[in-house]
Amino acid sequence: MAKRDYYEILGVGRNAAADEIKKAYRQMAIKFHPDKNPGNKEAEDKFKEAAEAYEVLSDADKKARYDRFGHQGMGAGGGHQGGGMNMDDIFSQFGDVFGDGNPFESFFGGGGQRRGGNGGRRQRVGSNLRIKVKLTLQEIATGVEKKLKVTKQIACNTCGGNGAKDKASFKTCGTCGGSGQVRKVTQTFLGQMATTSTCPSCNGEGTVVTSSCGSCRGSGRMEGEEVITVNIPAGVADGMQLSMSGKGNAPERGGIPGDLIILIEEIEDPVLKRDGNNIIFDLYLNFADAALGTQVEIPTVNGKVKLKIDAGTQAGKILRLRGKGLPELNSGYHGDQLVQVNVWTPKKMSSEEKALLEKLRTSENFMPKPDKNDHGFFDRMKEFFN
Ligand SMILES: [Zn+2]
Ligand SMILES: [Zn+2]
Repeated sequence: MAKRDYYEILGVGRNAAADEIKKAYRQMAIKFHPDKNPGNKEAEDKFKEAAEAYEVLSDADKKARYDRFGHQGMGAGGGHQGGGMNMDDIFSQFGDVFGDGNPFESFFGGGGQRRGGNGGRRQRVGSNLRIKVKLTLQEIATGVEKKLKVTKQIACNTCGGNGAKDKASFKTCGTCGGSGQVRKVTQTFLGQMATTSTCPSCNGEGTVVTSSCGSCRGSGRMEGEEVITVNIPAGVADGMQLSMSGKGNAPERGGIPGDLIILIEEIEDPVLKRDGNNIIFDLYLNFADAALGTQVEIPTVNGKVKLKIDAGTQAGKILRLRGKGLPELNSGYHGDQLVQVNVWTPKKMSSEEKALLEKLRTSENFMPKPDKNDHGFFDRMKEFFN
């Protein structure tokens, strides 16, 4: 098949100027683009044909050769035999033809969200502030309200945070005319395409400050103190972090303050040990109380409770106080308090005490007789983990 004349393909005269050739090609590319003509072989051929014509006529050297020798002049090195240019070549050429980047993709490849940019003025966000809060187990058990005095960056109280000396110091940004965005219009084969981006002169604010606030030197913020009331829920644990949005540092010249991050630190209790939501307590009984039985008062995270000790309670026994442990965070579940019974062995005694014990030493009932139900450590551990 004889090749058609390149000028004829693009529908331009022999002495058409470069931009006229470009414009003609754009129109052809739109008309015959495969995305607009899916499955249309004839359109695809025309699309390729136009691309090939443009490839030659847009290049001064190739154009001169073509003008002088026609298609024969393109022969070797032209690479246009047979099917002409391949699609990849054509698409890679579009950057030059249609402007910055490849607007083709913007239109057909779902890039439409790029238009309009982020749609509004950019909001500044301040930095986060971290603070430690120490809590007792009792506070963790019930939850607690804490008033925290924090030193942080706050909005300047002279200018209110905008950094300006007075109202007259604000001027509409000359670069963007106050919109906070700059529009860039690009020529594409579908016509003009406008992209917007944040104005570099005013950072998207739309206004610029001509004279700064004297107190903050234009930064819009200063160091200050704030008392913040924090409601700490029941069941928190050492190392947990709570976050209060908007209670951190103010950003420069207005915007949204950062977050206040509250790091939970548990104060170690002298007698109550925490194991997850359970509390473990070591109870020391004297020998007589363990043997005769008694009632004791023991501490829990919710105050003191009375506990009955049966006669004949063995050392090492674990008593479980259901629900007397710590609540689980954000649930109704409560852990238990586990009371480990220890029998206190006296370390020093008077001669009278010794004499009393000597009488009991060989007494039949004082001989150890562990029964099947109290085998010692192994059984106690089983009970513990049940
Ligand atoms: Zn100020
Ligand atoms: Zn601006």
